[in-house]
Amino acid sequence: GGLPPFTNDAMIDFTVPDNRKAFVEALADVRSRFGQTVPLYIGGRDVTTADLIPTTNPAKPAEVVASICQAGRPEIDDAIAAAKKAALTWRDTSPADRAAYLRRAADICRKRIWELSAWQVVEVGKQWDQAYHDVTEGIDFLEYYAREMLRLGAPRRMGRAPGEHNHLFYQPKGIAAVIAPWNFPFAIAIGMASAAIVTGNPVIFKPSSISSRIGYNLAEVFREAGLPEGVFNYCPGRSSIMGDYLVEHPDISLICFTGSMEVGLRIQEKAAKVQPGQRQCKRVIAEMGGKNATIIDDDADLDEAVLQVLYSAFGFQGQKCSACSRVIVLDAIYDRFIERLVKAASSIHIGPSEDPSNYMGPVADATLQKNVSDYIRIAEEEGRVLLKRTDLPAEGCYVPLTIVGDIRPEHRIAQEEIFGPVLAVMRAATFDEALSIANGTRFALTGAVFSRSPEHLDKARREFRVGNLYLNKGSTGALVERQPFGGFAMSGVGSKTGGPDYLLQFMDPRVVTENT
Ligand code: GLU
Repeated sequence: GGLPPFTNDAMIDFTVPDNRKAFVEALADVRSRFGQTVPLYIGGRDVTTADLIPTTNPAKPAEVVASICQAGRPEIDDAIAAAKKAALTWRDTSPADRAAYLRRAADICRKRIWELSAWQVVEVGKQWDQAYHDVTEGIDFLEYYAREMLRLGAPRRMGRAPGEHNHLFYQPKGIAAVIAPWNFPFAIAIGMASAAIVTGNPVIFKPSSISSRIGYNLAEVFREAGLPEGVFNYCPGRSSIMGDYLVEHPDISLICFTGSMEVGLRIQEKAAKVQPGQRQCKRVIAEMGGKNATIIDDDADLDEAVLQVLYSAFGFQGQKCSACSRVIVLDAIYDRFIERLVKAASSIHIGPSEDPSNYMGPVADATLQKNVSDYIRIAEEEGRVLLKRTDLPAEGCYVPLTIVGDIRPEHRIAQEEIFGPVLAVMRAATFDEALSIANGTRFALTGAVFSRSPEHLDKARREFRVGNLYLNKGSTGALVERQPFGGFAMSGVGSKTGGPDYLLQFMDPRVVTENT
Protein backbone atom coordinates (compact mmCIF):
# COMPACT_ATOMS: atom_id res chain seq x y z
CA GLY A 1 0.00 0.00 0.00
CA GLY A 2 2.61 2.61 -0.91
CA LEU A 3 4.41 2.73 2.43
CA PRO A 4 7.99 1.57 2.96
CA PRO A 5 8.05 -1.85 4.67
CA PHE A 6 7.69 -1.89 8.45
CA THR A 7 10.87 -1.85 10.53
CA ASN A 8 11.23 -1.64 14.30
CA ASP A 9 12.30 1.76 15.61
CA ALA A 10 15.96 1.98 16.67
CA MET A 11 17.19 0.92 20.12
CA ILE A 12 19.09 3.39 22.27
CA ASP A 13 22.71 3.28 23.43
CA PHE A 14 23.34 5.24 26.62
CA THR A 15 27.10 4.85 26.38
CA VAL A 16 26.80 7.65 23.78
CA PRO A 17 27.31 10.93 25.72
CA ASP A 18 24.79 12.89 23.60
CA ASN A 19 22.08 10.38 24.47
CA ARG A 20 22.84 10.67 28.18
CA LYS A 21 22.78 14.44 27.92
CA ALA A 22 19.44 14.43 26.11
CA PHE A 23 17.95 12.20 28.79
CA VAL A 24 19.21 14.34 31.67
CA GLU A 25 17.75 17.44 30.01
CA ALA A 26 14.41 15.71 29.46
CA LEU A 27 14.28 14.68 33.12
CA ALA A 28 14.90 18.29 34.15
CA ASP A 29 12.20 19.43 31.73
CA VAL A 30 9.51 17.08 33.07
CA ARG A 31 10.57 17.88 36.62
CA SER A 32 10.01 21.57 35.92
CA ARG A 33 6.39 20.65 35.09
CA PHE A 34 5.74 18.57 38.22
CA GLY A 35 2.51 19.20 40.07
CA GLN A 36 0.49 20.57 37.17
CA THR A 37 -3.22 19.84 36.95
CA VAL A 38 -4.01 17.48 34.08
CA PRO A 39 -7.48 17.85 32.53
CA LEU A 40 -9.61 15.25 30.80
CA TYR A 41 -9.67 15.46 27.00
CA ILE A 42 -13.19 15.00 25.63
CA GLY A 43 -14.49 15.87 22.18
CA GLY A 44 -11.29 17.73 21.32
CA ARG A 45 -11.37 19.92 24.44
CA ASP A 46 -9.65 19.93 27.80
CA VAL A 47 -12.18 19.45 30.60
CA THR A 48 -11.38 19.95 34.27
CA THR A 49 -13.17 18.33 37.19
CA ALA A 50 -13.10 19.01 40.91
CA ASP A 51 -12.10 15.45 41.82
CA LEU A 52 -8.30 15.28 41.67
CA ILE A 53 -5.89 12.40 42.38
CA PRO A 54 -2.14 12.96 42.46
CA THR A 55 0.27 10.65 40.74
CA THR A 56 3.57 10.39 42.54
CA ASN A 57 7.19 9.40 42.01
CA PRO A 58 7.54 5.87 43.44
CA ALA A 59 11.17 6.59 44.32
CA LYS A 60 10.08 9.64 46.32
CA PRO A 61 6.37 9.37 47.11
CA ALA A 62 6.23 12.92 48.48
CA GLU A 63 6.88 14.23 44.97
CA VAL A 64 3.63 14.88 43.11
CA VAL A 65 4.22 14.27 39.41
CA ALA A 66 0.79 15.56 38.39
CA SER A 67 -2.63 16.23 39.75
CA ILE A 68 -5.11 14.29 37.64
CA CYS A 69 -8.73 15.34 37.05
CA GLN A 70 -10.97 12.32 37.48
CA ALA A 71 -13.88 11.49 35.19
CA GLY A 72 -17.12 10.59 36.92
CA ARG A 73 -20.20 9.18 35.24
CA PRO A 74 -21.31 12.53 33.71
CA GLU A 75 -17.91 12.89 32.02
CA ILE A 76 -18.11 9.32 30.71
CA ASP A 77 -21.53 10.16 29.26
CA ASP A 78 -20.02 13.28 27.64
CA ALA A 79 -17.11 11.31 26.22
CA ILE A 80 -19.42 8.65 24.79
CA ALA A 81 -21.62 11.39 23.28
CA ALA A 82 -18.54 12.96 21.70
CA ALA A 83 -17.44 9.56 20.37
CA LYS A 84 -20.92 8.93 18.93
CA LYS A 85 -20.87 12.28 17.21
CA ALA A 86 -17.52 11.45 15.62
CA ALA A 87 -18.31 7.80 14.86
CA LEU A 88 -20.02 7.91 11.48
CA THR A 89 -17.59 10.33 9.86
CA TRP A 90 -14.69 8.39 11.29
CA ARG A 91 -16.15 5.11 10.05
CA ASP A 92 -16.42 6.57 6.55
CA THR A 93 -12.93 8.06 6.56
CA SER A 94 -10.78 5.95 4.24
CA PRO A 95 -8.38 3.41 5.76
CA ALA A 96 -5.54 5.30 4.07
CA ASP A 97 -6.53 8.57 5.75
CA ARG A 98 -6.96 6.89 9.13
CA ALA A 99 -3.57 5.25 8.73
CA ALA A 100 -2.01 8.62 7.89
CA TYR A 101 -3.06 9.97 11.32
CA LEU A 102 -1.20 7.09 12.99
CA ARG A 103 1.92 7.80 10.99
CA ARG A 104 1.71 11.48 11.91
CA ALA A 105 1.37 10.44 15.56
CA ALA A 106 4.46 8.22 15.17
CA ASP A 107 6.47 11.18 13.85
CA ILE A 108 5.39 13.28 16.81
CA CYS A 109 6.47 10.51 19.21
CA ARG A 110 9.89 10.37 17.53
CA LYS A 111 10.25 14.11 17.92
CA ARG A 112 9.23 13.98 21.60
CA ILE A 113 10.84 10.68 22.52
CA TRP A 114 13.12 11.99 25.29
CA GLU A 115 10.27 13.71 27.07
CA LEU A 116 7.87 10.75 26.62
CA SER A 117 10.54 8.48 28.11
CA ALA A 118 11.40 10.80 31.00
CA TRP A 119 7.81 10.88 32.26
CA GLN A 120 8.00 7.09 32.70
CA VAL A 121 11.12 7.28 34.83
CA VAL A 122 9.49 9.66 37.28
CA GLU A 123 5.91 8.37 37.24
CA VAL A 124 6.39 4.58 37.27
CA GLY A 125 10.10 4.14 38.06
CA LYS A 126 11.10 2.64 34.72
CA GLN A 127 14.81 2.54 33.90
CA TRP A 128 16.06 4.93 31.17
CA ASP A 129 16.61 2.35 28.45
CA GLN A 130 13.37 0.52 29.19
CA ALA A 131 11.43 3.78 29.23
CA TYR A 132 12.91 4.74 25.86
CA HIS A 133 12.06 1.33 24.43
CA ASP A 134 8.52 1.63 25.73
CA VAL A 135 8.17 4.68 23.48
CA THR A 136 9.82 2.97 20.48
CA GLU A 137 7.37 0.10 20.96
CA GLY A 138 4.53 2.63 20.88
CA ILE A 139 5.94 4.05 17.63
CA ASP A 140 6.18 0.51 16.24
CA PHE A 141 2.50 -0.14 17.01
CA LEU A 142 1.50 3.08 15.22
CA GLU A 143 3.59 2.26 12.14
CA TYR A 144 2.62 -1.40 12.06
CA TYR A 145 -1.12 -0.96 12.54
CA ALA A 146 -1.14 1.80 9.91
CA ARG A 147 0.25 -0.71 7.40
CA GLU A 148 -2.03 -3.49 8.61
CA MET A 149 -5.07 -1.27 8.02
CA LEU A 150 -3.96 -0.59 4.47
CA ARG A 151 -3.68 -4.33 3.92
CA LEU A 152 -7.08 -5.11 5.45
CA GLY A 153 -8.75 -2.02 3.98
CA ALA A 154 -8.52 -3.29 0.41
CA PRO A 155 -11.75 -5.16 -0.49
CA ARG A 156 -11.13 -8.81 -1.26
CA ARG A 157 -12.76 -10.75 -4.05
CA MET A 158 -13.86 -14.20 -2.87
CA GLY A 159 -14.52 -17.30 -4.97
CA ARG A 160 -14.33 -17.77 -8.72
CA ALA A 161 -17.89 -18.60 -9.72
CA PRO A 162 -18.84 -17.10 -13.09
CA GLY A 163 -21.72 -14.61 -13.13
CA GLU A 164 -21.15 -13.59 -9.53
CA HIS A 165 -18.96 -11.05 -7.69
CA ASN A 166 -18.29 -11.62 -3.99
CA HIS A 167 -16.53 -8.92 -1.96
CA LEU A 168 -15.35 -9.25 1.61
CA PHE A 169 -14.59 -6.09 3.57
CA TYR A 170 -14.56 -4.82 7.15
CA GLN A 171 -16.37 -2.17 9.13
CA PRO A 172 -15.59 -0.86 12.62
CA LYS A 173 -17.47 -2.38 15.55
CA GLY A 174 -18.45 0.92 17.18
CA ILE A 175 -17.14 2.76 20.22
CA ALA A 176 -14.20 1.26 22.06
CA ALA A 177 -13.29 1.43 25.74
CA VAL A 178 -9.52 1.11 26.06
CA ILE A 179 -8.45 0.24 29.60
CA ALA A 180 -4.69 0.37 29.95
CA PRO A 181 -2.07 -0.81 32.45
CA TRP A 182 0.69 1.21 34.11
CA ASN A 183 3.60 -1.13 33.36
CA PHE A 184 3.94 -0.28 29.67
CA PRO A 185 2.16 3.00 30.20
CA PHE A 186 2.83 4.43 26.76
CA ALA A 187 3.39 1.42 24.47
CA ILE A 188 0.46 -0.76 25.46
CA ALA A 189 -1.88 2.21 25.85
CA ILE A 190 -1.14 3.68 22.43
CA GLY A 191 -1.03 0.21 20.87
CA MET A 192 -4.56 -0.62 21.98
CA ALA A 193 -5.89 2.90 21.27
CA SER A 194 -4.32 3.14 17.81
CA ALA A 195 -5.63 -0.30 16.82
CA ALA A 196 -9.16 0.81 17.69
CA ILE A 197 -8.74 4.18 16.00
CA VAL A 198 -7.22 2.99 12.74
CA THR A 199 -9.97 0.38 12.31
CA GLY A 200 -12.53 3.19 12.64
CA ASN A 201 -13.67 2.97 16.27
CA PRO A 202 -13.66 6.15 18.42
CA VAL A 203 -11.98 5.55 21.78
CA ILE A 204 -12.74 6.24 25.42
CA PHE A 205 -9.33 5.79 27.01
CA LYS A 206 -8.97 5.03 30.71
CA PRO A 207 -5.32 5.00 31.81
CA SER A 208 -4.25 3.38 35.07
CA SER A 209 -4.42 5.77 38.02
CA ILE A 210 -0.71 5.06 38.60
CA SER A 211 0.35 6.34 35.17
CA SER A 212 -2.27 8.93 34.24
CA ARG A 213 0.26 11.68 33.43
CA ILE A 214 1.82 9.39 30.85
CA GLY A 215 -1.72 8.61 29.71
CA TYR A 216 -2.18 12.30 28.96
CA ASN A 217 0.81 12.05 26.59
CA LEU A 218 -1.53 10.11 24.29
CA ALA A 219 -4.01 12.99 24.25
CA GLU A 220 -1.15 15.41 23.49
CA VAL A 221 0.16 13.26 20.64
CA PHE A 222 -3.24 12.63 19.02
CA ARG A 223 -4.20 16.29 19.34
CA GLU A 224 -0.96 17.38 17.69
CA ALA A 225 -1.58 14.80 14.96
CA GLY A 226 -4.85 16.59 14.20
CA LEU A 227 -7.09 13.60 14.92
CA PRO A 228 -10.74 14.73 14.54
CA GLU A 229 -12.58 15.75 17.73
CA GLY A 230 -14.16 12.90 19.65
CA VAL A 231 -12.09 10.12 18.06
CA PHE A 232 -9.78 9.91 21.08
CA ASN A 233 -11.06 10.82 24.53
CA TYR A 234 -8.82 10.72 27.60
CA CYS A 235 -10.85 9.78 30.69
CA PRO A 236 -8.88 8.77 33.78
CA GLY A 237 -11.16 8.01 36.69
CA ARG A 238 -11.69 6.02 39.84
CA SER A 239 -12.39 2.40 38.87
CA SER A 240 -14.91 2.13 41.70
CA ILE A 241 -16.94 5.00 40.22
CA MET A 242 -16.60 4.69 36.46
CA GLY A 243 -14.93 1.33 35.71
CA ASP A 244 -18.02 -0.89 35.55
CA TYR A 245 -20.09 2.04 34.27
CA LEU A 246 -17.89 2.35 31.19
CA VAL A 247 -17.78 -1.41 30.55
CA GLU A 248 -21.55 -1.78 31.01
CA HIS A 249 -22.49 1.27 28.97
CA PRO A 250 -24.94 0.20 26.22
CA ASP A 251 -23.14 2.32 23.60
CA ILE A 252 -19.79 0.54 24.03
CA SER A 253 -19.16 -2.19 21.44
CA LEU A 254 -15.61 -3.14 22.19
CA ILE A 255 -13.47 -3.34 25.31
CA CYS A 256 -9.74 -3.61 24.91
CA PHE A 257 -8.00 -4.30 28.20
CA THR A 258 -4.56 -5.19 29.49
CA GLY A 259 -4.06 -5.88 33.20
CA SER A 260 -4.65 -8.47 35.87
CA MET A 261 -6.58 -11.71 35.47
CA GLU A 262 -9.06 -10.65 38.18
CA VAL A 263 -10.00 -7.41 36.43
CA GLY A 264 -9.99 -9.09 33.01
CA LEU A 265 -12.46 -11.75 34.16
CA ARG A 266 -14.67 -9.13 35.78
CA ILE A 267 -14.76 -7.14 32.53
CA GLN A 268 -15.75 -10.24 30.55
CA GLU A 269 -18.55 -11.00 32.97
CA LYS A 270 -19.90 -7.43 32.97
CA ALA A 271 -19.60 -7.13 29.20
CA ALA A 272 -21.58 -10.32 28.62
CA LYS A 273 -24.72 -8.87 30.23
CA VAL A 274 -26.95 -7.04 27.74
CA GLN A 275 -28.05 -3.63 29.07
CA PRO A 276 -31.31 -1.81 28.27
CA GLY A 277 -30.94 -0.06 24.93
CA GLN A 278 -27.91 -2.10 23.88
CA ARG A 279 -27.98 -3.23 20.26
CA GLN A 280 -24.79 -5.25 19.87
CA CYS A 281 -22.80 -8.01 21.54
CA LYS A 282 -19.68 -6.56 23.12
CA ARG A 283 -16.32 -7.91 22.18
CA VAL A 284 -13.68 -8.14 24.87
CA ILE A 285 -9.99 -8.33 24.05
CA ALA A 286 -8.13 -8.95 27.31
CA GLU A 287 -4.43 -9.47 27.87
CA MET A 288 -4.11 -10.79 31.41
CA GLY A 289 -1.47 -12.33 33.63
CA GLY A 290 1.36 -14.80 33.43
CA LYS A 291 3.35 -17.14 35.65
CA ASN A 292 6.16 -17.57 33.22
CA ALA A 293 8.78 -20.29 33.52
CA THR A 294 12.33 -20.51 32.25
CA ILE A 295 13.83 -24.00 31.96
CA ILE A 296 17.57 -24.37 32.49
CA ASP A 297 18.66 -27.63 30.87
CA ASP A 298 21.74 -29.49 32.15
CA ASP A 299 23.82 -28.43 29.12
CA ALA A 300 22.70 -24.77 29.06
CA ASP A 301 25.14 -21.94 28.37
CA LEU A 302 25.18 -20.57 31.91
CA ASP A 303 26.78 -17.21 31.06
CA GLU A 304 23.86 -16.46 28.81
CA ALA A 305 21.18 -18.08 30.98
CA VAL A 306 22.16 -16.22 34.17
CA LEU A 307 22.12 -12.79 32.50
CA GLN A 308 18.83 -13.42 30.72
CA VAL A 309 17.03 -14.84 33.75
CA LEU A 310 18.28 -11.91 35.81
CA TYR A 311 16.91 -9.43 33.31
CA SER A 312 13.60 -11.13 32.67
CA ALA A 313 12.94 -11.70 36.38
CA PHE A 314 14.14 -8.37 37.78
CA GLY A 315 14.17 -5.90 34.86
CA PHE A 316 11.67 -3.14 35.68
CA GLN A 317 11.34 -4.88 39.06
CA GLY A 318 9.63 -7.92 37.54
CA GLN A 319 6.57 -5.86 36.67
CA LYS A 320 5.89 -7.32 33.24
CA CYS A 321 3.31 -9.93 32.43
CA SER A 322 6.11 -11.54 30.39
CA ALA A 323 8.55 -11.63 33.34
CA CYS A 324 10.21 -14.86 34.40
CA SER A 325 8.76 -15.76 37.79
CA ARG A 326 9.68 -19.45 37.92
CA VAL A 327 13.05 -20.87 36.99
CA ILE A 328 13.02 -24.65 36.58
CA VAL A 329 16.51 -26.08 36.81
CA LEU A 330 17.67 -29.58 35.92
CA ASP A 331 19.20 -31.45 38.86
CA ALA A 332 22.59 -31.93 37.25
CA ILE A 333 23.20 -28.19 36.92
CA TYR A 334 21.12 -26.92 39.84
CA ASP A 335 23.89 -25.98 42.29
CA ARG A 336 26.11 -24.33 39.69
CA PHE A 337 23.29 -22.31 38.16
CA ILE A 338 21.87 -21.16 41.49
CA GLU A 339 25.26 -20.14 42.83
CA ARG A 340 25.91 -17.97 39.80
CA LEU A 341 22.41 -16.52 39.66
CA VAL A 342 22.49 -15.56 43.34
CA LYS A 343 25.93 -14.04 42.93
CA ALA A 344 24.80 -11.95 39.97
CA ALA A 345 21.60 -10.85 41.72
CA SER A 346 23.62 -9.91 44.82
CA SER A 347 25.75 -7.48 42.88
CA ILE A 348 23.19 -5.42 40.98
CA HIS A 349 22.52 -1.86 42.11
CA ILE A 350 19.10 -1.06 43.52
CA GLY A 351 17.90 2.53 43.73
CA PRO A 352 16.04 5.33 41.93
CA SER A 353 15.61 4.72 38.21
CA GLU A 354 16.55 8.35 37.61
CA ASP A 355 20.13 7.20 38.24
CA PRO A 356 21.01 4.97 35.27
CA SER A 357 23.58 2.99 37.23
CA ASN A 358 20.73 1.30 39.12
CA TYR A 359 19.61 -1.98 37.61
CA MET A 360 16.48 -2.24 39.74
CA GLY A 361 14.22 0.49 41.12
CA PRO A 362 11.08 0.84 43.24
CA VAL A 363 7.81 -0.88 42.36
CA ALA A 364 5.19 1.45 40.95
CA ASP A 365 3.26 2.41 44.09
CA ALA A 366 2.68 1.72 47.76
CA THR A 367 -0.20 -0.73 47.20
CA LEU A 368 1.96 -2.86 44.94
CA GLN A 369 4.78 -2.60 47.47
CA LYS A 370 2.48 -4.09 50.09
CA ASN A 371 1.17 -6.85 47.78
CA VAL A 372 4.66 -7.94 46.80
CA SER A 373 5.84 -7.80 50.43
CA ASP A 374 2.96 -10.11 51.40
CA TYR A 375 4.07 -12.58 48.72
CA ILE A 376 7.65 -12.44 50.00
CA ARG A 377 6.34 -13.53 53.40
CA ILE A 378 4.49 -16.42 51.76
CA ALA A 379 7.65 -17.34 49.85
CA GLU A 380 9.57 -17.45 53.12
CA GLU A 381 7.02 -19.86 54.55
CA GLU A 382 6.75 -22.10 51.49
CA GLY A 383 10.39 -22.33 50.45
CA ARG A 384 13.95 -21.57 51.45
CA VAL A 385 15.16 -18.05 50.80
CA LEU A 386 18.34 -18.06 48.69
CA LEU A 387 18.64 -14.31 48.43
CA LYS A 388 16.72 -11.39 49.90
CA ARG A 389 18.17 -7.98 49.16
CA THR A 390 17.25 -5.82 52.11
CA ASP A 391 19.90 -3.20 51.31
CA LEU A 392 17.26 -0.83 49.94
CA PRO A 393 16.96 2.96 49.97
CA ALA A 394 15.13 4.10 53.09
CA GLU A 395 12.65 6.18 51.12
CA GLY A 396 10.48 4.94 48.24
CA CYS A 397 8.36 1.95 47.20
CA TYR A 398 11.16 -0.61 47.25
CA VAL A 399 10.75 -4.31 47.88
CA PRO A 400 13.57 -6.79 48.42
CA LEU A 401 14.72 -8.63 45.33
CA THR A 402 13.97 -12.20 46.42
CA ILE A 403 15.03 -15.60 45.12
CA VAL A 404 13.40 -18.53 46.86
CA GLY A 405 14.34 -22.18 46.42
CA ASP A 406 12.61 -25.51 47.21
CA ILE A 407 9.37 -24.32 45.64
CA ARG A 408 7.04 -27.10 44.52
CA PRO A 409 4.26 -26.89 41.91
CA GLU A 410 1.47 -26.81 44.50
CA HIS A 411 2.90 -23.77 46.32
CA ARG A 412 1.18 -20.40 45.90
CA ILE A 413 4.52 -18.90 44.88
CA ALA A 414 4.51 -21.35 41.96
CA GLN A 415 0.94 -20.57 40.87
CA GLU A 416 -0.02 -16.94 41.53
CA GLU A 417 1.15 -13.93 39.58
CA ILE A 418 3.19 -11.71 41.93
CA PHE A 419 4.17 -8.89 39.56
CA GLY A 420 7.34 -7.99 41.42
CA PRO A 421 10.99 -9.00 41.82
CA VAL A 422 10.31 -12.43 43.34
CA LEU A 423 11.71 -15.50 41.61
CA ALA A 424 10.71 -19.07 42.52
CA VAL A 425 13.34 -21.73 41.90
CA MET A 426 12.11 -25.25 41.16
CA ARG A 427 14.03 -28.45 40.59
CA ALA A 428 13.40 -31.09 37.91
CA ALA A 429 14.99 -34.52 37.49
CA THR A 430 14.42 -34.70 33.74
CA PHE A 431 13.65 -32.34 30.87
CA ASP A 432 10.19 -33.92 30.57
CA GLU A 433 9.50 -33.19 34.21
CA ALA A 434 10.66 -29.60 33.69
CA LEU A 435 8.20 -29.22 30.81
CA SER A 436 5.36 -30.63 32.84
CA ILE A 437 6.09 -28.23 35.73
CA ALA A 438 6.33 -25.35 33.24
CA ASN A 439 2.90 -26.18 31.82
CA GLY A 440 1.36 -26.71 35.26
CA THR A 441 -0.35 -23.37 35.87
CA ARG A 442 -3.56 -21.68 34.71
CA PHE A 443 -1.53 -19.21 32.68
CA ALA A 444 0.01 -19.59 29.23
CA LEU A 445 1.79 -16.40 28.31
CA THR A 446 5.57 -16.63 27.89
CA GLY A 447 8.28 -19.17 28.53
CA ALA A 448 11.97 -19.72 27.86
CA VAL A 449 14.35 -22.64 27.52
CA PHE A 450 18.13 -22.58 27.74
CA SER A 451 19.54 -25.77 26.23
CA ARG A 452 22.12 -26.94 23.72
CA SER A 453 20.17 -30.10 22.88
CA PRO A 454 18.36 -29.82 19.50
CA GLU A 455 16.08 -32.62 20.65
CA HIS A 456 15.04 -30.79 23.80
CA LEU A 457 14.55 -27.51 21.98
CA ASP A 458 12.39 -29.31 19.47
CA LYS A 459 10.35 -30.93 22.19
CA ALA A 460 9.87 -27.55 23.89
CA ARG A 461 8.72 -26.05 20.60
CA ARG A 462 5.93 -28.64 20.50
CA GLU A 463 5.09 -29.16 24.14
CA PHE A 464 5.88 -25.97 26.10
CA ARG A 465 2.41 -24.55 25.59
CA VAL A 466 2.58 -20.77 25.89
CA GLY A 467 1.77 -17.85 23.62
CA ASN A 468 5.40 -16.71 23.33
CA LEU A 469 8.22 -19.21 23.74
CA TYR A 470 11.85 -18.13 23.58
CA LEU A 471 14.64 -20.65 22.93
CA ASN A 472 18.02 -19.57 24.35
CA LYS A 473 16.63 -16.09 24.96
CA GLY A 474 14.89 -14.42 27.91
CA SER A 475 11.10 -14.18 27.98
CA THR A 476 10.59 -10.40 27.93
CA GLY A 477 10.89 -7.70 25.31
CA ALA A 478 8.71 -8.94 22.45
CA LEU A 479 9.06 -6.69 19.40
CA VAL A 480 6.16 -5.58 17.22
CA GLU A 481 5.83 -7.75 14.10
CA ARG A 482 8.83 -9.95 14.99
CA GLN A 483 7.27 -11.49 18.09
CA PRO A 484 3.49 -10.91 18.01
CA PHE A 485 2.65 -10.95 21.70
CA GLY A 486 -0.03 -12.58 23.86
CA GLY A 487 -1.14 -15.78 25.52
CA PHE A 488 -4.13 -18.01 26.07
CA ALA A 489 -5.77 -20.00 28.90
CA MET A 490 -6.05 -17.56 31.86
CA SER A 491 -3.51 -15.26 30.22
CA GLY A 492 -6.15 -13.71 28.05
CA VAL A 493 -8.67 -13.75 25.24
CA GLY A 494 -8.02 -12.36 21.82
CA SER A 495 -5.13 -12.41 19.44
CA LYS A 496 -1.62 -11.13 19.62
CA THR A 497 -0.66 -7.46 19.74
CA GLY A 498 1.76 -6.43 17.04
CA GLY A 499 0.65 -9.39 14.91
CA PRO A 500 -1.36 -9.96 11.72
CA ASP A 501 -4.61 -11.03 13.44
CA TYR A 502 -4.84 -8.16 15.91
CA LEU A 503 -6.82 -5.58 13.94
CA LEU A 504 -9.41 -8.12 12.78
CA GLN A 505 -10.77 -8.18 16.32
CA PHE A 506 -11.76 -4.52 16.10
CA MET A 507 -13.99 -4.95 13.05
CA ASP A 508 -16.96 -6.87 11.71
CA PRO A 509 -16.56 -8.48 8.30
CA ARG A 510 -19.22 -8.00 5.60
CA VAL A 511 -19.71 -9.75 2.29
CA VAL A 512 -21.60 -8.34 -0.68
CA THR A 513 -22.60 -10.70 -3.49
CA GLU A 514 -23.64 -9.28 -6.83
CA ASN A 515 -25.29 -11.42 -9.49
CA THR A 516 -23.77 -10.15 -12.77
N1 GLU B 1 5.16 -7.16 25.61
C1 GLU B 1 5.90 -7.12 26.84
C2 GLU B 1 7.10 -8.02 26.76
O1 GLU B 1 7.21 -8.80 25.82
C3 GLU B 1 5.07 -7.49 28.05
C4 GLU B 1 3.77 -6.79 28.11
C5 GLU B 1 3.12 -6.77 29.49
O2 GLU B 1 3.78 -6.86 30.51
O3 GLU B 1 1.89 -6.57 29.50
O4 GLU B 1 7.93 -7.97 27.62
